Amino acid sequence: MSSTFNRRKFISNVTIVGTGLAIGAPHIASARRADAKPAILGGPKAHTGSFPSWPVENTIEEKGLTEVLQTKKWGRLDGNTVAAFETEYSKLFGVKHSLGVSSGTSALTTILGALDIGPGDEVAIPVYTFVATYNVVVLNYALPILVDTDIESFQMDAAKTKAAITPQTKVIMPVHIGGSPVDLDAFTTLAKQHHIPLVEDACQAHLAEWKGVKVGNYGLAGAFSFQSSKNLNCAEGGAVTTNDEAFIKNCYTFHNQGQGGRSTSFSTGVGTRGTNLRLTEFQGSLLLSQMTRVVEQSNRRWENAQYLSGLLKKIPGITPAKLYPGTTRSAYHLYMFRYDKNHFAGLSREQFLKALSAEGVPNSAGYGQMNKSDYVTALATNKHYLKIYGEKTMQHWLERNQCPQNDLLTAQQSVWLFQNMLLGTKNDMEQIADAMRKIQKHAAEIAKR
Ligand SMILES: *Cc1c(COP(=O)(O)O)cnc(C)c1O
Repeated sequence: MSSTFNRRKFISNVTIVGTGLAIGAPHIASARRADAKPAILGGPKAHTGSFPSWPVENTIEEKGLTEVLQTKKWGRLDGNTVAAFETEYSKLFGVKHSLGVSSGTSALTTILGALDIGPGDEVAIPVYTFVATYNVVVLNYALPILVDTDIESFQMDAAKTKAAITPQTKVIMPVHIGGSPVDLDAFTTLAKQHHIPLVEDACQAHLAEWKGVKVGNYGLAGAFSFQSSKNLNCAEGGAVTTNDEAFIKNCYTFHNQGQGGRSTSFSTGVGTRGTNLRLTEFQGSLLLSQMTRVVEQSNRRWENAQYLSGLLKKIPGITPAKLYPGTTRSAYHLYMFRYDKNHFAGLSREQFLKALSAEGVPNSAGYGQMNKSDYVTALATNKHYLKIYGEKTMQHWLERNQCPQNDLLTAQQSVWLFQNMLLGTKNDMEQIADAMRKIQKHAAEIAKR
């Protein structure tokens, strides 16, 4: 009897102590973890266990895909699933029209095609972006003007965009990089003043908001991506959003070989060029299933990211990317921050990232200097570009694309964490911060390795 009692008592005491550490005094546990030896020097990992895997799926997806399979209507010209997805997507974004397309790149291509962008036109884009933003401009033989980065936010600099505008500028195409909105007040004003359409590359920014309104509502149109890594995923896919009825018709027409659709809302628009960028019913179904979780996931990323920012701001030399004051929600496709080695005994960013990986915290240095890559600079000698623009303009183009702030950011400071990590727990966020504090404490030692 007494031994059973004692055992119970013992277990209950352990539970109380454990609970006290986890909930009552997280800072104590956290401080202890930060005192430990860094994993790269043989100590225990700060982040134990694993972050949530991506994508998330269950029987909802399975049922939807099987249903499409059995209808034998596999394309949007056959069935109604893509159309149903478009209705739901528009509702989710509070936007009048959405068009599903085969990728984020296709969404941008459709928008530029519907605007009939071509040789001789300039399109202002950020230098700090995924290369697709650049490629869609170049495939139209238009001139991409690469604009420097606001180092604090990692976003396209609005003032420098203004300075880059010429009479040839036909589109201003900022990217909500990492899923955080650009300064949309500045960009919408700029577009209005110059009578140039604003196109939002919102491929990373599902459900991000500016002043309570979802991105993709501010420009003439928004482009979204559903590629595997993105916050809403159907392997490959994308969407155009717009509040302009004539424009969505032109987009539909462009993406469907110059032809209108079955429903009246997609009657034939105007345009003289087109292609096939249609989404399949399987992807439409997958998106409808994934959308049953997208709001909850978005809420969780936002809450965890804010909690993480609070922790990281207390670490000297770690500066989370600034959100502009109009931001009411970031999609946090990426959690971006700047690293300053001066607060880490001169430990280089690369050494810091390696030490962070060893702690069980996946990371990346992020984008590089696109304007200086061989792929981009070779455009200055592309035979078609020389024919259209001439050598002088192309040499001048290389000079126009200089981006000193972006050089600084990407060469030494930028760090990314990934969206799936933000689907974890508060404890995961604390362990990320612990890892950095631990590295900071032993930075001199790690630097000597
Ligand atoms: C992913 C992405 C794209 C392209 O989307 P895909 O679906 O991969 O074609 C374009 N722009 C940005 C900023 C992206 O992150």
